[in-house]
Amino acid sequence: MRIAVVGASGRMGRCLLKAVILSKQLELNVAVARSNSPLLGKDAGDLVAMESVNIKVIADLATATEQFDLLIDFTQPEVSLQYLQICRQAGKKMVIGTTGYSDAQQAIIRHATKEIAIVLAPNMSVGVNLLFKLLATTANVIGAHSDIEVTEAHHRHKTDAPSGTALRMGQVIADTLGYNLKDCAVYGCKGDSLARDRQTIGFSAIRAGDIVGEHTAMFVAEGERIEITHKASNRMIYANGAMRAAEWLKDKNCGLYDMQDVLGISKFT
Ligand code: NAD
Repeated sequence: MRIAVVGASGRMGRCLLKAVILSKQLELNVAVARSNSPLLGKDAGDLVAMESVNIKVIADLATATEQFDLLIDFTQPEVSLQYLQICRQAGKKMVIGTTGYSDAQQAIIRHATKEIAIVLAPNMSVGVNLLFKLLATTANVIGAHSDIEVTEAHHRHKTDAPSGTALRMGQVIADTLGYNLKDCAVYGCKGDSLARDRQTIGFSAIRAGDIVGEHTAMFVAEGERIEITHKASNRMIYANGAMRAAEWLKDKNCGLYDMQDVLGISKFT
């Protein structure tokens, strides 16, 4: 499959370029950076310190729709929705790793999947998707008798909090326990009457330095505590997950999928 990567100059964009160039199944055909990027016109291979691949970084995806089959997007929500419209009109598949969508923005993506196939996942690492399954198992056994906290830490440049992954962890736990996440989520902790209701899920976030991504769910019961943690030390895990998602989409024409579908991990419990 011929691949386009947008946000090519970003932290994830560069990992994605490298992963597609190294892939045997996927072929890098289009690389897009923002219109004021100093990298426009440069070779995508040079951008990631690899051999030249004869693909120049361009600014406008709409001019290149004949040249790719699937777009990989790790950018910003508003930007990615512009790319979504281009892909929808041109009938191109997408792998979307961007996080921080509002409910209304997610509805736009869902609507587009009536016409095109999309894998949308806030975290494409295999380990994190396994963690989702472990969370459901744990919540099923001890969730109702525990206080539950989700904590996460990321680098100082990350713009959204809690992370999409932390929210997804909360969603998995809430779904397993039959809670509505909107009603039971408690964000941050400050005040003087904080005695907690058992049927809540607390979220807290750290933004510091160059932390790639760390997530923990704590289930704290009387006398014992379970902590389930995932630590990422290299962004290539997300890019490699995106490659698996792109290959998996090859024979899908429309529909919304996540990494559980791609990895064949049955949904949660
Ligand atoms: P980054 O800031 O390094 O990169 C963002 C990219 O978007 C840049 O290339 C930037 O040029 C581009 N961009 C921003 N505004 C633009 C505009 N107006 N027009 C065109 N391009 C524009 O960020 P990052 O660390 O690479 O993360 C990108 C996204 O991916 C974030 O939403 C992050 O949370 C998410 N992410 C997801 C996963 C996952 O597994 N799903 C993993 C890591 C990061």
